[in-house]
Amino acid sequence: MKMKKIWLSSPHMGGKEQTFVQEAFEGNWIAPIGPNLNEFEKDICKYTGANHCVGLTSGTAAIHLALKILGVDHGDYVLVQSFTFCGSANPIVYAGATPVYIDSENLTWNMCPKALGQALEDFERKGLINKVKAIIPVHLYGMPAKMDQISFIANKYGIPIVEDAAESIGSSIRNQQTGTFGDLGVFSFNGNKIITTSGGGGLVSHSKEHIDLARKLSTQAREDAPYYQHEMVGFNYRLSNVSAGIGRGQMMVLNQRIEQRRSNFERYMRLFERLGISEKIKVQEEREIRFSNRWLTAVYFDPVYFFKDTSEKLRIHLDATNIESRPLWKPMHMQPVFKDCLFYGTAVCEDLFNYGLCLPSGSNLNEEDWLRIENEITNYFN
Ligand SMILES: *Cc1c(COP(=O)(O)O)cnc(C)c1O
Repeated sequence: MKMKKIWLSSPHMGGKEQTFVQEAFEGNWIAPIGPNLNEFEKDICKYTGANHCVGLTSGTAAIHLALKILGVDHGDYVLVQSFTFCGSANPIVYAGATPVYIDSENLTWNMCPKALGQALEDFERKGLINKVKAIIPVHLYGMPAKMDQISFIANKYGIPIVEDAAESIGSSIRNQQTGTFGDLGVFSFNGNKIITTSGGGGLVSHSKEHIDLARKLSTQAREDAPYYQHEMVGFNYRLSNVSAGIGRGQMMVLNQRIEQRRSNFERYMRLFERLGISEKIKVQEEREIRFSNRWLTAVYFDPVYFFKDTSEKLRIHLDATNIESRPLWKPMHMQPVFKDCLFYGTAVCEDLFNYGLCLPSGSNLNEEDWLRIENEITNYFN
């Protein structure tokens, strides 16, 4: 008999979601408008400390609207972390602009401030700096990027930041939540994220104008008139009030989910200690000021100490017993679809992709699942 599948990260309901969904049905708010949507947006503001929020159909849609709000257009450039999911980069192309990819640094695995500085200097030298319209750092796997340095460099050039916090709701730097450092911040509530609305996203900002405009653009940019009047091209990006009901229930358990994911990470670290390999394995580091929600536990098998194919062999080993793990994100500058795009940096993110692995990190792993995971990892290294 095949053993139960252990997923990398699967949805984990808290219990109250269906009550809010039921309310949507009772009030007949089966639409992209309604009380759940308003309350969910308020919950996000309250939790993150953002002043304004709009609920959207996806994190990708949120990034697209953020770029539109910043006026990103044909012929412009947007500097984005290469080590990420394609949802960070595709909206740049939707907006008609060109992505420019930036390498990661070794500590957080996110946008390298030094490579960012080099890219901006290069664009200045080429006389194209006024075409760089936004910078998109990503807080990958929940780990906050080095926002102090990135913001300092962005400010020097007066270029706005769109923070891709799709994976990092609840993460913070010196108690300031990710998503609130940039001009605009983006969250995702896709099914695999730390909390989910089945599919959805959120755009936050301290600027009321930005979020008012996002709300208008997300509902086809209707002007205030009894008939349909349009002065801009809009989008159909608003979150459903039914989905927002799921989101309200999920926000109630977000702190618990973060605790559970962080305890997964600690449990893997204890396992690697028992196996005597903890000194050789590299992970994303908090170093006091950063707090990660540890959405996924990602490990790097340094080829100095491990065989080069360790991550792939371990993945196949786990897969054989129906345990899902996954290579780290394949950098965007290595993707065929973006092969003509510029890249600044060295090979940090390429190495992370080549030698890293995401381990099962669901908040709903039970003791039985854990014993299987620990057993199989132990078997592999013995
Ligand atoms: C999930 C994700 C997105 C996109 O979010 P969707 O809701 O899936 O559109 C963007 N960036 C990163 C880093 C993500 O992980």
